[in-house]
Amino acid sequence: MNSVGSISEFYCLAIVILEIVLLVLFLLRIYIVAKKPKRFPVLRTTGMWYPKTLKILLGVSMVLLMVATPFFINFKSGIKPFIPDYHNNLLMILLILICGTEIFLSFSMSKDLVEKIFRKVWLSVVVIGLLPLSIFMIGQIPEIFKYPPNQDCYVLDLPVKGVWRASEAGGTESVNYHNAFKGQKYAIDIVKIGKGGSMFEGDGKVISDFYAMGANVYSPVDGIVVHEIDSLPNADISFSPMDTVNPAGNHVVVEFEPDRFVFLAHLNTSSVTVKKGDTIQKGDLIGQVGNSGNTTLPHLHMHIQDLPVIEYEHSTGFPFRFKLMKRKRLLIWRTLTNEFLIRNDLFKNPS
Ligand SMILES: [Zn+2]
Repeated sequence: MNSVGSISEFYCLAIVILEIVLLVLFLLRIYIVAKKPKRFPVLRTTGMWYPKTLKILLGVSMVLLMVATPFFINFKSGIKPFIPDYHNNLLMILLILICGTEIFLSFSMSKDLVEKIFRKVWLSVVVIGLLPLSIFMIGQIPEIFKYPPNQDCYVLDLPVKGVWRASEAGGTESVNYHNAFKGQKYAIDIVKIGKGGSMFEGDGKVISDFYAMGANVYSPVDGIVVHEIDSLPNADISFSPMDTVNPAGNHVVVEFEPDRFVFLAHLNTSSVTVKKGDTIQKGDLIGQVGNSGNTTLPHLHMHIQDLPVIEYEHSTGFPFRFKLMKRKRLLIWRTLTNEFLIRNDLFKNPS
C-alpha cells in the first residue's frame, strides 16, 4: 500500500465496518430491552446485591468511557488525518449513544439478570473487562494536555498560512512521537488540509496530490540563518523509512537566541530563499514545504534545539508556543495567544 488514498480507503472501510457493528449492537440492545420490559429499579429494590453491584459498576464504566473516548479518538488516534471528519464524528456519536443508553439502563435491571445465572456471569465478564479499561483511559487524559508553562516556552509566529492540522505535536509521547528523542522534544509535524479535513486530493499517490506540497514557509522568528540546504530530491509517497542519511532533507536552521536554533525541515527541492548568514525577520519567506529527507508524505517539521545540526541524543529540544493563532481543538475555532498544539489540532492565522 503506497498511496495515501488506499491507506485512507482501508481505514475508512475499517471504520464503516466498526460503525455498522456498533449500530447493530445498539439496535439489538434496544430490541432486547423493548421485548422484555419487566425491569427492577436498581436503587429502590432491596436485596439482589450482586446484580445491583454489577449494574452500578457497568454504569460507572460507561460514564468513564463516554468521557474518555472522544479524547482518545481526537488526540491519541493516528488515523484521524486519514479519515474524513464526518466518519470521526459519526463514530463519536455512536459511541456516546451506546454509552448513554447503557448509563440510562444501569438504573434498572432485567428480570433475566436477577434470575438467570448465565446473565450474571456474562455481565461479570463485561464489567471485569470494561471497568479497568475505562479507568485506564480516564487516567491517560491528563497526559494528552501536559505541556511546559508559558514562562518555559519560546514564543514563535506561525510558519505557514491557510488551514493546517498538527499530525504530531504536544508535550508527551502519548500525542507526539518526537518526544522519544531528546533533541526532537516538542517538535511538530504539520499538514495542510483541504475539503472535509483531507490532506490530499485525488488518490494521494503522488506528492503533488497533497495540499501542503509547495506551500510557503515563513520564518517563525527574528534571527540569523546558520544553515540551509535545498539540493536534495523530494521522496515519493512511502510508508517505509526514506532518506535516513539526511533525515531533515532540505531544511533551514535559524539562530534566534544564543544557542537556540529553530529547524524547518522536509522542504521542497530548490525552494529555499535564504542563505547562510542572512539576517531574517518573522514572517520572511524562507522556502516551500516539500517531501525531502526521512518523510512519508509532504509536511513541515519544526522544532527548537540547542545545537545547529540534527542530533537526536546530544542536543536538547525546547518547548514553544505560538504568539497568535486560531485553533480548533475538539469542536470550535478559538483565537488564542501563547498557546501550543497537540496531535490533530487544526490551526490557522487569525486574519
Ligand atoms: Zn517530524
